[in-house]
Amino acid sequence: MNQPQRSQKFAPHTAQRPGQPAPPKKVVTDATTETPMPLRPRVHQTVSIEELESMVTTPAPAAAVVSTKSQAERDASYLDLTLPSNFHFYPFKSLCARGLRGAEQAKIAAASNEGRLRHLVDAMSATLGDGISAYDLTQEDFHWLMFWQRKHSYGKVPYKHQTICTNQEHLDAVMKQEKDAKTLEIVQVIDKSMVSETIFDPSTVVIPDLGDVVVDTLRVKDMVTVNEMNMEEVTAEMTWLIDRASYLSHKHGDLKARMELVAKMTPDQIADLQVYMSQVTKYGLSESVTVRCKECGASVVSELTIDAQAFLPEVQ
Ligand SMILES: [Zn+2]
Repeated sequence: MNQPQRSQKFAPHTAQRPGQPAPPKKVVTDATTETPMPLRPRVHQTVSIEELESMVTTPAPAAAVVSTKSQAERDASYLDLTLPSNFHFYPFKSLCARGLRGAEQAKIAAASNEGRLRHLVDAMSATLGDGISAYDLTQEDFHWLMFWQRKHSYGKVPYKHQTICTNQEHLDAVMKQEKDAKTLEIVQVIDKSMVSETIFDPSTVVIPDLGDVVVDTLRVKDMVTVNEMNMEEVTAEMTWLIDRASYLSHKHGDLKARMELVAKMTPDQIADLQVYMSQVTKYGLSESVTVRCKECGASVVSELTIDAQAFLPEVQ
């Protein structure tokens, strides 16, 4: 059984999705590891994002008969996007966005400085057309949107990606002060072909029978709710409930109301829900890359992530 872990789960750069099997080797993150770890050094990797098929956007063609024009049809600065979910989770079946402007860059800078996801989501929302809110997007689509927006707004500017060696022997050597913590830093230019994309396939998902309870998928609005919780008050027990409650329909109420629904479920229902959670998240950008530690030679699986801190181009 998968044991979703605490901390950083709802950061925009979520490394491990609830209900999904853990990667073979995890990037060490502060609260999730049992191994005492040295202070995490900040490492920047240079990463180029490959030209993904879906990210090649063209202005929307004018419809032959137009009664209600979309924003992309009215305004050439908006481009039609093809989300990896294929719009499966939304009442709307198309989405357009424009590039970032100064107001959004200011929000992203604030998100980076304050660690508040809300500013980042507000920035992304401001770029979407037709009154669509980024809060309603799924985690996977939001992540994709951030990659698209960065590429669209800044071109092929490399972005920051940090990782450290997770080889136990290397960590032990640092703990014993035989090696400097700096040696754990891995700096490597990642091959641009390593980011791939999977389109959502509803036929691979089994909707669990939970009685009156309806399932959904993880939405950005829940990620923001969790991001704004006082982490010192969030117990491991609550995290377990939150991970599952995030996959229940918002028609059942806020996260707290949905946590109460999870609390009442039978073990069979929980098991079915967890299977569903792993199936319903199998799309979007695939970000795992293998990098090599120069110091000890170990291969480390690292996640290609993009968050507020990585978003804005570095001033050289
Ligand atoms: Zn190493």
